[in-house]
Amino acid sequence: MDPSFIKKANIKTKAVHAGETKDKRYTGSIADITMSNTFSVDTDISFSAENLDEDAQFIYTRWGNPTIQMLEQKVAALENGEAALAFSSGMAAITGLMMQKLKSGDRALVSDVSYAGVREFGNDMLKDLNIEVVPLNFSNLEDVEKAFEKPAKFVFSETPCNPILRLTDIHALAEIVHRHGAELAVDSTFATPMATKPLELGADYVIHSMTKYLGGHGDAIGGIVAGSKREINALRSNISIHMGSIISPFNAWLINRGIVTLPMRMQVHSDNAMKVAKFLEGHPKITKVFYPGLPSHPQHELAQKQMQLYSGMITFQMDDPKTAARRMKEKLKIFHYAVSLGHHKSLIFYISTDEMQKSTFKLQGAQLDDYLKYAGEGVFRVSIGLEDPGDLINDLDSSL
Ligand SMILES: *Cc1c(COP(=O)(O)O)cnc(C)c1O
Repeated sequence: MDPSFIKKANIKTKAVHAGETKDKRYTGSIADITMSNTFSVDTDISFSAENLDEDAQFIYTRWGNPTIQMLEQKVAALENGEAALAFSSGMAAITGLMMQKLKSGDRALVSDVSYAGVREFGNDMLKDLNIEVVPLNFSNLEDVEKAFEKPAKFVFSETPCNPILRLTDIHALAEIVHRHGAELAVDSTFATPMATKPLELGADYVIHSMTKYLGGHGDAIGGIVAGSKREINALRSNISIHMGSIISPFNAWLINRGIVTLPMRMQVHSDNAMKVAKFLEGHPKITKVFYPGLPSHPQHELAQKQMQLYSGMITFQMDDPKTAARRMKEKLKIFHYAVSLGHHKSLIFYISTDEMQKSTFKLQGAQLDDYLKYAGEGVFRVSIGLEDPGDLINDLDSSL
């Protein structure tokens, strides 16, 4: 569809039409999936990764593919970004962007609590490459100012963050980051573009694990980075083409199809999660519940300002959580006891603070205290699906 029309369209219309191309051969209403890895090209085609233009011919799928391009244009439109680049997974998107932005001797400020793989990559690989990674609690902006007393180039935040659902004020953080001449990337997997648009709030890059809500059906893995055309082109040339972490056109097609219903799904995930969170808050065996939509969330005011809906992720705490986890695994009929999130099916998983500390976060002092405030001995992370909320509540009620 005409890009200038898409730009002005409502997000629901974008989810359906952005990036969609016509099937020129058979005039099908839905574009066919293009699995071809190579394309018949002109004899004078340029093979330079520098000459990648959106209107350029497709040459080879690692450089670009019609089905993948459709998905990239759709996500760019949803995030109000100029361009986007899809990857084989959320981790490939995050590590790809970091490899592009950080060189030996650089310093990066990274969420002290985030998706485990990201912290582990910072602790291990980036450190080995002589890149200093400073873990920070981004809900405390004074710490960020202080961290900039030494120059840093790149800032990576996640909001709401995994697993504790603490929020970052993107607008305020972007102001600090830009004042110090750095760039800000936000992992918005938990929020989705239906809740928050980080680029509009000042971030330079927004990242999604499309494995989660964007795909939405638990059947494909993918990641994406959206931002300015210049930066996305550079990322495509250096990282995607040379490191080869591209998404399969088949997975791109599944995720593209999933995104069509993202607006409706996110509304149901959020409405269901609000009902379940209220039920949990009133349950005698539950000691604490965190959901950005509840007034009891420590940053509920920021959630109201920054999130158009509160998504489907809830955490809660119980006494003797390991016994409770075993009981739930055995008794729950609807919830699957599994990692991951953002699927049509409801999922639950227990995350022990001790284990996370040892393997991943290694927090100390005030940062550890703040983590414990949200997580205690450990949290049950719940991804609320699209089932009937009454059935979900009954399932939990008979298993807690
Ligand atoms: C799952 C997840 C990732 C990693 O994505 P994969 O697609 O599993 O590689 C990154 N960030 C967040 C917030 C996630 O939930």
